[in-house]
Amino acid sequence: MFSEKSAFVKGIEIGGKAPVRIQTMYDKPFGAESTESIISHIGELKAMGCSLIRFAFASKSDAPYFAQIAEHSPIPVVADIHFDYRMAILAIESGAGKIRINPGNIGAEWKTREIVKAALDHGTAIRIGLNSGSLPPGSGKVPVRMVESALGYIDLFESMGFGNTVVSLKSSDGAETAEAARLFASQSGYPQHIGVTEAGDSVTAAVRSAWTLGNLLSSGIGDTIRISMTGSIDDEVAAASELLRVTGLSRKGVRIVSCPRCGRHTFDTIGFLWKNRSRLLALDKDITVAIMGCLVNGPGEAGYADYAITGYGDKVYIYRKGALCLKTSSEDASNALFEVIANE
Ligand code: SF4
Repeated sequence: MFSEKSAFVKGIEIGGKAPVRIQTMYDKPFGAESTESIISHIGELKAMGCSLIRFAFASKSDAPYFAQIAEHSPIPVVADIHFDYRMAILAIESGAGKIRINPGNIGAEWKTREIVKAALDHGTAIRIGLNSGSLPPGSGKVPVRMVESALGYIDLFESMGFGNTVVSLKSSDGAETAEAARLFASQSGYPQHIGVTEAGDSVTAAVRSAWTLGNLLSSGIGDTIRISMTGSIDDEVAAASELLRVTGLSRKGVRIVSCPRCGRHTFDTIGFLWKNRSRLLALDKDITVAIMGCLVNGPGEAGYADYAITGYGDKVYIYRKGALCLKTSSEDASNALFEVIANE
């Protein structure tokens, strides 16, 4: 959306006038789950707003799994490569839409050139992914060194006629990440993937990332984002979707409102929210759904929502535009709410 140049990953545009894309990274080794189950999970992530998913590609034995997933995934898959240029080429040949490399840990320059040649042959994008922790030794400020390294690799790629490039400059320190991203944006038109790396558990990661990425996005920097967390990848996508919503960059998906609960609560908002969050976020509707803890204040407090749900004992009450439209049992609560929304 913000960079001058675009990169293309299996037809998905990153940068230029394209919407900001959400990414996550699959969190298990290949073989830990069936390919069918991974594909089905990717489908759920896509419905929540995820546009790209990255897999660690560490050895030759990963290739058949990766190829199968790349073939059937509903969104492009990205291979994350470290150290071994042959794994990068194998991932490209196995159908990666993009590979993420840090040329600094690939070794001799000819190895990086071999990767770029393979990417040119297959139409694969490359992310130059630099982390503060893996920069070559040197003096000077980390953001400056990250930007200098990235620009050097871009020159190398361009000298080979390759421009399908995305850059990421990440640090676990939000201020350092933001400084590097701003400095890079002032010197290059290539799209940026932005994120705070090793950001902690879901709460700290969401807060740190919202502050850092929110400020960058509000200044027009950032073409793809990941809210990296020590938590579930569903949470990563949900947090990123919410960030794009609150920054006004996306209106996709439901805006969920839920009360914090207090001693008056007679409806389990926490249980209901966890059970139904993914399904709600997957609805492609620009609506607000309120999940409220009690009949006393809930309906009034949620009067502005398009739909609201609350309950008392075994009874559940569903409201449309502030007016009661359905009473049902607690077992039927989820289905009843989705039916009311679907029948609108
Ligand atoms: S809706 Fe009810 S339970 Fe929730 S915070 Fe308000 S008063 Fe408390």
